[in-house]
Amino acid sequence: MKTHLFAALVLISIFSSQALQLPNFFPNSTAAGPWACFLPLLGCHSGQKVEGLGKLKKYFQHFGYINSSFADNITDEFDEILHSAIKTYQLNFNLDSTGKLDIPTLKHLITPRCGIADIINDTSTMNSGKKSLNIHSVSHYSLFPGSPRWPINRRNLTYAFHPNKQIPETTKMVFARAFQRWATIIPMTFNEQQPSTTSFLTADIRITFASGEHGDGEPFDGVLGTLAHAFSPPSGLFHIDADEDWVVDGDFSSSSSLSAVDLESVAIHEIGHLLGLGHSSVEDSIMYPSISSGTRKVMLAGDDIEGIQYLYGSNPSYNGSIQTTTGQRETSNGGVHDSLTQVQFLLVVVMALLIIFT
Ligand SMILES: [Zn+2]
Ligand SMILES: [Zn+2]
Repeated sequence: MKTHLFAALVLISIFSSQALQLPNFFPNSTAAGPWACFLPLLGCHSGQKVEGLGKLKKYFQHFGYINSSFADNITDEFDEILHSAIKTYQLNFNLDSTGKLDIPTLKHLITPRCGIADIINDTSTMNSGKKSLNIHSVSHYSLFPGSPRWPINRRNLTYAFHPNKQIPETTKMVFARAFQRWATIIPMTFNEQQPSTTSFLTADIRITFASGEHGDGEPFDGVLGTLAHAFSPPSGLFHIDADEDWVVDGDFSSSSSLSAVDLESVAIHEIGHLLGLGHSSVEDSIMYPSISSGTRKVMLAGDDIEGIQYLYGSNPSYNGSIQTTTGQRETSNGGVHDSLTQVQFLLVVVMALLIIFT
């Protein structure tokens, strides 16, 4: 215990300049999101029993990495089930597949993300489910099990916002742009229905901003953590966490919050699910599951385009020139709010260790 404490103190002294900045990165307990509680698990390994590992197992279970049949066996033991889940997760997120809770893995675990699972019915839609991991020789886009898609006679879809909340025009424009990103490359149109209870119920796609539990057994979790979820065709259910600090104009400089998330980036991703795409391991793709606060990613990558055109064909007007596979990620504010740097992250971990071992 003394060794850990000494190591923590030494590291804190090394990074003392960053230590002074810590309040800027975590101004309050929610700014790091609900998954910051995983940080003290750094370095945990097989055979250990550590408080918090059970919660991590539930996280992995939610996203499909631990089979739901193990629901009664969620303990704080670092067992083979957890080891295997971590390895698969690392594979999906292009990390060293060691099964260890190292810094890169924890950084990914706490990054805000979509609520849809990466592994559905034991079928991984990401790297771990592909036969080849050669990025140049295999498609990385994925579909939901059974490859659901909107039928051929449903190419002009309608969408509506839940009538219980007035949606500002600026927010509606975000969704109109997000739908248009997809409509540009496939033969589909998306038109908003005028708000009314009837139009909401009859629209093909029904958009709801909701907090916490909202009736589908997939509760939201406050600031950061899970940002939104949307379901495969022809469900049309599109739910967004109302507790997020959404940026609607794509300009993070107008927000002083470190937890600000770009609404358009998330909306484009969820529309991908509504159309039938699953998660991709390609980090530049829209269908990559996670997005850091302060990041804007609105350009469809080659992987997204390949996947959606597999389902619906190409828009005759699409000339294929608006996107490329990589390097199209837009970021705002110079990435100031982007993921914690290694040094900042290490500092946070050290603080967590200090708390644990004292
Ligand atoms: Zn998703
Ligand atoms: Zn929901």
